[in-house]
Amino acid sequence: VKQIFLRSLLNLASDMQKDTTVWRNARIATCDATMTVFDPGAIVSREGLIIWVGAEQDLPQEFKQPAVINEDLQQRWLTPALIDCHTHLIYAGNRADEFAARLQGASYAQIAQRGGGINSTVRATRAASEQQLFDLSVPRLQSLLAEGVGCIEIKSGYGLNFETEAKMLRVARRLAASFPVTIKTTFLGAHAVPPEYQNQTDQYLQQVAFDWLPRLHDAGLVDAVDIFCESIAFNLQHADLLFEQAQKRNIPIKMHAEQLTNLGGSKLAARYRALSCDHLEYTTAEDVVALAGAGTVAVLLPVAFYCLAEKQLPPIAALRSHGVPMAVASDSNPGSAPGASLLLALNMGCRFFGLHAAEVLAGATRHAARALGEQEQRGSLSVGRCADFAVWNIQSLDEIGYWSGFNPCHGLIRAGRWVSRSNSHANTH
Ligand SMILES: [Zn+2]
Repeated sequence: VKQIFLRSLLNLASDMQKDTTVWRNARIATCDATMTVFDPGAIVSREGLIIWVGAEQDLPQEFKQPAVINEDLQQRWLTPALIDCHTHLIYAGNRADEFAARLQGASYAQIAQRGGGINSTVRATRAASEQQLFDLSVPRLQSLLAEGVGCIEIKSGYGLNFETEAKMLRVARRLAASFPVTIKTTFLGAHAVPPEYQNQTDQYLQQVAFDWLPRLHDAGLVDAVDIFCESIAFNLQHADLLFEQAQKRNIPIKMHAEQLTNLGGSKLAARYRALSCDHLEYTTAEDVVALAGAGTVAVLLPVAFYCLAEKQLPPIAALRSHGVPMAVASDSNPGSAPGASLLLALNMGCRFFGLHAAEVLAGATRHAARALGEQEQRGSLSVGRCADFAVWNIQSLDEIGYWSGFNPCHGLIRAGRWVSRSNSHANTH
């Protein structure tokens, strides 16, 4: 009887360790507020969550049993899986012809007159079937996953009619169901005024705010709402009206603000305690104070700055000194950021915006999570958060923002399991 009792106790102990993995011999960057590093460190996952993290020498005895899966990371760096918190990843067609025309001297106005710009993407996206839209988006998603990205925000905004906006958001949900990635959807019906509402911006915005937003939200397709608040798009009154409707339903708010001019968008967004304000090239010191007070994340998009050959820099020093959390995202879209590389965005954030290596790492992890309202779930490594990790063939964390056009990611772990893994060597020397 004693033996049977002992055996069942042992079984119980090994049951408890089921699905427990120790990721050891790693150099761990927690990316929490203190940017703690454990080198050599270990991290323990169970049922998709982190249950322990620390210096390897402090690993508790219970995780050294044979029932625990042991993964030797060979001194590679391990960070939280990266988060791309601003993308327009789902679209049909592309705008290479416009890029070529611009190289030959065509102006934006001329391109727009020919039916180019966002309208050409809207036409192609409306014409694509849901399956085509899905298939076109997959390679872009895979490109991000290969860079260690485990969570992506995707906006609608190339439909500009109810049917196509819904189609884009359904494709986003299908991508999340088909790939090992967390996807947060943002309804951006207020991206541009579609041709059928020309000179009826107010009517279009009312349609978006009072009709489409509630219907799409009821359908479970909307995690947040966004608006392009800009001289060429929607004004402050439009944003106010949309946000009021979002607030009634507790839908988190984001805003494309101060990219080309300053309309006071970030101040308004701060008043609504927006999750994030994105772009911010023309943000003033006063706006920065408002963002800091609201805890709103500044999402910086250096690839668009580069592609549009902008000159005006976002006020990095002011954001830094007021402690506004700064995220960096790819902005993947066919007009101003063709491609799908978060690592390139980080490199450009360093080069163009003068962000520090530690800032771009936090900007693609902890602060990006906050920009999506996901800071309790992901973006840093601590007990209770998701066991979503990126593993790197790098010698120092400075390399995360250093490479441009080269991907040093070794592999991606999601919910405590390998999603992908290269067969490259650890490059620790
Ligand atoms: Zn955008």
